[in-house]
Amino acid sequence: MNAPTSTPVLLDGHGRRIDYLRLSVTDRCDLRCSYCMPKGFKGFEEPANWLTFDEIERVVAAFARLGVRRLRLTGGEPLLRRDLPLLAARLGALPGVDDLSLSTNATRLDRHAAALRAAGVRRINVSLDSLQAERIAAIAGRDVLGEVLAGLDAACAQGFAPIKLNMVVQAGVNDDEIEAMVAFCIERGFILRLIETMPVGDSGRASRHVDLQQVIAALAQRFDLAPSARELGGGPARYWQSRDGGFTLGAITPISQHFCATCNRVRLSVDGTLYLCLGQDDKLELRPLLRGGIDDAGLEAALRQAIERKPERHEFREKPGKIVRFMSATGG
Ligand code: SAM
Ligand code: SF4
Repeated sequence: MNAPTSTPVLLDGHGRRIDYLRLSVTDRCDLRCSYCMPKGFKGFEEPANWLTFDEIERVVAAFARLGVRRLRLTGGEPLLRRDLPLLAARLGALPGVDDLSLSTNATRLDRHAAALRAAGVRRINVSLDSLQAERIAAIAGRDVLGEVLAGLDAACAQGFAPIKLNMVVQAGVNDDEIEAMVAFCIERGFILRLIETMPVGDSGRASRHVDLQQVIAALAQRFDLAPSARELGGGPARYWQSRDGGFTLGAITPISQHFCATCNRVRLSVDGTLYLCLGQDDKLELRPLLRGGIDDAGLEAALRQAIERKPERHEFREKPGKIVRFMSATGG
């Protein structure tokens, strides 16, 4: 990966530096996590409307010229997009892109870990809400614990670092399993990130979120954790570390303590919609521009203007009914 000679900086209208793009390469998924997508949902984007690899590369290259440095491949389930490692290699080789990561449910990670690593993906986040097969089946629609564990083994064998486990904590569903998950992560050397459910789509609203502030305080005492200033991916998570440095806990708390003042990201969905905030409807439709023949200077100008109007903050608490699209469509 090559660094440009001078470092451009992309600022939004609130003075925040935008250097991170989350790229949803598909809105499809082989699971139906209850807080993300409704059971039996079939309203997916038509393939004709998916950005092609060439179109994605053009948008990412333009963002990189403007100052975006970090790129995360997500979805839906990104490993459902055919030839994802080829796309990863193309994006990772773009001048200015110096951090390429992946979010996955890991059901297919076993098969793709080596190719992804060879393509330049370094960091990986895996969703895992429980270590109990029946619970996973209840949350995600089917029992995939074996596949996920095999995917994690493959990721370890390939040397991905760090490997973070994302656990969406739901009241009465898996909140009794947090300590077991901590023990698992200590044993395997994974970072555990606890997430409050966001009211995104009907599925997100149907889930009862747990206020993580008290949970973190109790875990900090139980496992002797201290707040950490470590930069671990430039995202919204706050981190705590054990005194011996062997275990790191993260928390993403959009409801109990939002982090909009330091937001550094925008999201591109598979149909070419640039979402400026996870919790607002502000967007830029890029597909018509790309297919209408816009040149690179025009594309950069359109991206700059969109970033300029990035909303100041989400309103998950004040207007929980606002966002009707699912997390899988936006690229969580
Ligand atoms: N399929 C991949 C996965 O599950 O990691 C990537 C896409 S998924 C939408 C990305 C992340 O969003 C996952 O960690 C998932 O748990 C989280 N997520 C989905 N719906 C959510 C919601 N309503 N609130 C909070 N997190 C959510
Ligand atoms: Fe699929 Fe990820 Fe959404 Fe679960 S959270 S349904 S794995 S996109």
